[in-house]
Amino acid sequence: MQKQINQIHEAIYDPIADLSTWRAMPTRSINNLDPFLFLNHHGPQNYGPNNNGLPFGPHPHRGFETLTFVLQGDITHKDSVTGESVITAGGIQWMTAGKGLIHAEVSSDEFKQKGGMEEVIQLWMNLPSKYKMVDPKYMGLQKESIPSISLDNGKVQLNLVSGTYQSHEGPIDSITNLFTSTINMSKGGQFEDSMPEGSQVLFYVINGEVEVNGITAKEHQLVEMGLEGEKIEVRALEDSQLIYCYGTPFKEPIVAHGPFVMNTQQEIREAIYDYQSGKLGSLSL
Ligand code: MN
Repeated sequence: MQKQINQIHEAIYDPIADLSTWRAMPTRSINNLDPFLFLNHHGPQNYGPNNNGLPFGPHPHRGFETLTFVLQGDITHKDSVTGESVITAGGIQWMTAGKGLIHAEVSSDEFKQKGGMEEVIQLWMNLPSKYKMVDPKYMGLQKESIPSISLDNGKVQLNLVSGTYQSHEGPIDSITNLFTSTINMSKGGQFEDSMPEGSQVLFYVINGEVEVNGITAKEHQLVEMGLEGEKIEVRALEDSQLIYCYGTPFKEPIVAHGPFVMNTQQEIREAIYDYQSGKLGSLSL
């Protein structure tokens, strides 16, 4: 059975410092898509030479994971636990904040000097209570390490980060069994998939226009689907780029406070206390 489309949600324009940002979730229209919490789309933005780069200096996280898709430009990730890595266009950064760390997401020295196009999408994925306090972990993968599966005579490319598609397996081993990918489609290209019954889909149109299960969705739109059904069918009405993920909802209470996402207010107070008392480590740029 095809998944039903419940609603199309518009991302809202909400720039961060001088960085163009479209926030697809949370908005007044949608709070979360359990287990997916947050989706920001930065750029595409043209930086001139001698720019300041991305504005995300040192800040803490606890209780969830982040997946950052670097579509254009680069991101230098630094954190208080694992060190530093520079990921360029086509790569991803997967961070399990777990019990907590401090990180920064900035631009490389080369990018700040030369400038160029930057486009980044960041997704926050929740952790269930039993995994909220796991050890922090970071993995940066360049484009070459992400399988690009060619479908529909080359009109569709599925870039698989985690989970399985047909006989292919993504390079990241998600502890919550998330399927995560980006899809590039040429006009007229068709893609279909089936997933376990009860899955929550995160489907976001980065650019272009597609028909998904009979409903049209375009740039900066987040498509909310029902949990019932297992099939998705996509047809590109224009050349398009998509975020396509799914996972099993945890159905746990979510208490979010800035960079911390826990189950209770008490756990949020502990996170703030641990951060302020230096338990999440320190990071200087
Ligand atoms: Mn962050």
